[in-house]
Amino acid sequence: MNYVSTRGGSENIKSAEAIIQGLSANGGLFVPTEIPTIDEAFLSGLTNISYQDRAKQVLSRFLVDYTQDEIDACVMAAYGDNKFDTTEIAPVYPLREKDAVLELWHGPTSAFKDMALQLLPQLLSTALKKTGEKSEIVILVATSGDTGKAALEGFKDVDQIKIAVFYPQNGVSEIQRRQMITQEGGNVTVLAVKGNFDDAQTGVKRIFNDTVYNEELHEDGFKLSSANSINWGRLVPQIVYYFSAYADLVKKGTIAVGDKVNFVVPTGNFGNILAGYYAKRMGLPVNKFVCASNANNVLTDFLRTGVYDRNRTFHKTASPSMDILISSNLERLLYHVTDGNDAQVALWMQSLNETGRYDVGAEVLAKIQELFWADYADDETTLANIRKVFDETHYTMDTHTSVAEYVANTYRTASGDADTVNVILSTASPYKFNQSVLEALVEKDTLEGKDEFAMLDCLAEISGLIVPPALASLKTAPIRHTTVCAKEEMPEVVKAYLKK
Ligand SMILES: *Cc1c(COP(=O)(O)O)cnc(C)c1O
Repeated sequence: MNYVSTRGGSENIKSAEAIIQGLSANGGLFVPTEIPTIDEAFLSGLTNISYQDRAKQVLSRFLVDYTQDEIDACVMAAYGDNKFDTTEIAPVYPLREKDAVLELWHGPTSAFKDMALQLLPQLLSTALKKTGEKSEIVILVATSGDTGKAALEGFKDVDQIKIAVFYPQNGVSEIQRRQMITQEGGNVTVLAVKGNFDDAQTGVKRIFNDTVYNEELHEDGFKLSSANSINWGRLVPQIVYYFSAYADLVKKGTIAVGDKVNFVVPTGNFGNILAGYYAKRMGLPVNKFVCASNANNVLTDFLRTGVYDRNRTFHKTASPSMDILISSNLERLLYHVTDGNDAQVALWMQSLNETGRYDVGAEVLAKIQELFWADYADDETTLANIRKVFDETHYTMDTHTSVAEYVANTYRTASGDADTVNVILSTASPYKFNQSVLEALVEKDTLEGKDEFAMLDCLAEISGLIVPPALASLKTAPIRHTTVCAKEEMPEVVKAYLKK
């Protein structure tokens, strides 16, 4: 099994090389040439083993050029050693009889990005050793909030790697901002971009695609790579928790091996939900993937009509990690549902680039709709739903999770399917978006005059959950990164950092 670009061309490389390179030379994303398959015995075998052992089994199917020893070492470095606050790593919480919540935020930065970004640096540094790569790798990250911090934590002080993170100046929560600007590590820099997430992401993509710029860096001994979810090494760790959640439901007796479930995924860049698609293609029994968006509902419209159109108002919402109008990983889905029609994918992406729009047509849409269903929730609905679920079940959700939980219910109603278990993916601790969560749960005047840290304590009182220590300590952590730049300045800012 090798990896090729979604937009064609002659690249045909091993997973280690795809992970080092991040993005293909022609701007496409790397995809596996075959999707490995598993059987029911494989699923049953996952039931009584640890998350780490589940990960070893799933990853080795895709990373066929890594030895099993290499994979085992990477997995233990990422998910061993008390880096997560629960031994289950990604526990399944039984919300109702037919609704379970898969909690993906027990890692060091309290958001689901840790699931992938604890492992990616391990996969990458192993890949550098395997391939004899001598350049210093420069990781460029555009973040809508959570990726940045999780990448910084994953990569800090890793040998032969430097990391630069760009975040939209006014597009992240106060806790997210503080997490990033206080980041320690000798190989890290954090930069605010004047603009929104798409500005930051487009700026990073432009740097990747600038041949001259890349040659100049190369002469200085540097090579760019990405930790965004366009990197295969980001995506592949996420396939694991779909299997793990399924195994946990079997273990609890909620389902039997072979039963189908629905996964409801709060979606931005389409990385999380796409990892589920790979799990399904491998043989995981899935009925539907329910794609949940906020007011930036470009994916809802696409999955209903087949027309992707980013020409619309950008909304800043209470679920900022999903404030995205270009969902990069959708390109991989289009590649697979067209059975690898890379020329067609390249045309759609060209159209997206030039006009902001493309139309996949009725046939491709029908194929996608066999597996995907979509809806969205605006902020008012999202906050009201946090309150409703808290009142009914005493479970505290963050805003992103609330979007998914709400859409899980609209799917139940629309489909009339009362029996299939919904697995709702919970992508952030409620503490990461504490202000919005509190606005949903308490009267306005309770919050007046409270800063972020007083709000953490307030949420602890209401939810009964302990404040993650890494968040509590932000209050006194010194600020280390203060640079602000325009999106046009991003290439120069990176160069200046590397010259230091
Ligand atoms: C990144 C993120 C998402 C969106 O995930 P995608 O893989 O980009 O679809 C949702 N919720 C939270 C909290 C996130 O950090």
